[in-house]
Amino acid sequence: MSSGDRFRVSWVWTSRRSIVKGPGCRSTARNESNEQFAPERLKLYYVSTNDLTPNTYGGFRAAKVISDTCRRASNWRRVTDAYIHPRRKALKLIATAAAFSIVKPVRAETGTTIHTVLGPILPSSLGFTLPHEHVMVDFVGAEKTNRGRWNPEEVIARMQPYLLAAKHSGVRGFVDCTPAYLGRDPRILKKLAQKTGLHILTNTGYYGDAEGRYLPPSAHSETAAQIAARWLAEWHDGIEDTGVRPGFVKIRVDGLAVDRSRLSEMDGKLLAAAAAVTRKTHMAVTCHSPGSSGLSAALRFAAEGGDPGKFIVAHCDDNGFELNQRITAAGSWVSIDGIGRKPEADHLAIVLPLLQKSPDRLLLSMDSGWYNVGEKDGGKINGFNALTDRFLPALRAAGVAAAQINHVTIENPARVFAAAVQRL
Ligand SMILES: [Zn+2]
Repeated sequence: MSSGDRFRVSWVWTSRRSIVKGPGCRSTARNESNEQFAPERLKLYYVSTNDLTPNTYGGFRAAKVISDTCRRASNWRRVTDAYIHPRRKALKLIATAAAFSIVKPVRAETGTTIHTVLGPILPSSLGFTLPHEHVMVDFVGAEKTNRGRWNPEEVIARMQPYLLAAKHSGVRGFVDCTPAYLGRDPRILKKLAQKTGLHILTNTGYYGDAEGRYLPPSAHSETAAQIAARWLAEWHDGIEDTGVRPGFVKIRVDGLAVDRSRLSEMDGKLLAAAAAVTRKTHMAVTCHSPGSSGLSAALRFAAEGGDPGKFIVAHCDDNGFELNQRITAAGSWVSIDGIGRKPEADHLAIVLPLLQKSPDRLLLSMDSGWYNVGEKDGGKINGFNALTDRFLPALRAAGVAAAQINHVTIENPARVFAAAVQRL
């Protein structure tokens, strides 16, 4: 190992309630913050590589956090999970941790990390999250779309105020659902994350509409396993030349035009590929699938070995309660992501019954934004504030408790987007 090697050092305290309860802990603590710190549950991951993007955190601060955490037991939230250090500092940190007997190099685990465009964070750090939005889209088609069609600085200048306005209203996490060949540009998302302080996620996957306009030619000839290998390569190596790794999988599955509940060959292939990728990475899959194709997609995904608890059916607003119940009964997520497009009362009529019946499988977002490449200045932008500024007050006025709102807007995104640690 040369002295130029850099370590990624990260640690995660798994907070399984039965294990973390220690002496003096308020029993049956439901709130994480009441849980006692337990050094044996703090696991330190470390790997070395010289292929890491710079990170602003220093080794000293990391070592300090770990030792402080050992002393001040209750404040475990201060432990942050990703630091990148020069070799000397990393070794010192590992030695510090070893002195407290809490070093346990482990392999990838499920549900431990949210992978943002700036690197991994703890699920508990994600905060209030919009699980389905778009900074930019380019609908020109897979054959024609390319980076020369937009100027990143112009897109950033146009979109940054909308992201800051959302942040001002309490948004912390932002899941960008624009897939490859449809205007995905991690360079833009990374700069926006740096400028706004938002936790932004991007994705791997393909957008397979019925005509295949947004699929690369290889998608038609390759098998599900070959497609999965391409997506896994992005998870391991980063997207294109950016070093940015995906935080979830985004696919589109339409079903057949004559009967949406029947899936096409391409639909099945994309779902099999997504299932294969999730089995390895535990990444969530957001699936654009209108009407009954969403339920069929969820069932096929599970049949292909995917964890239904990682499958998000997007755009469920107009499904009707019964179909949405069948999706959640299958273990998958219902994403009501058209908030802001209808009068508040109409959204309430959709969301309130779901909040009652399946609060653990419900996500809320706006599918907003859309700097539209090809239009002057990106065309008309829809801001990201309808959920926080209009719909949440309507929910409160309808008698929904703050804890329930937090559950759906903070805890649910943290649960579903938590993935395995990316090994280098
Ligand atoms: Zn969308």
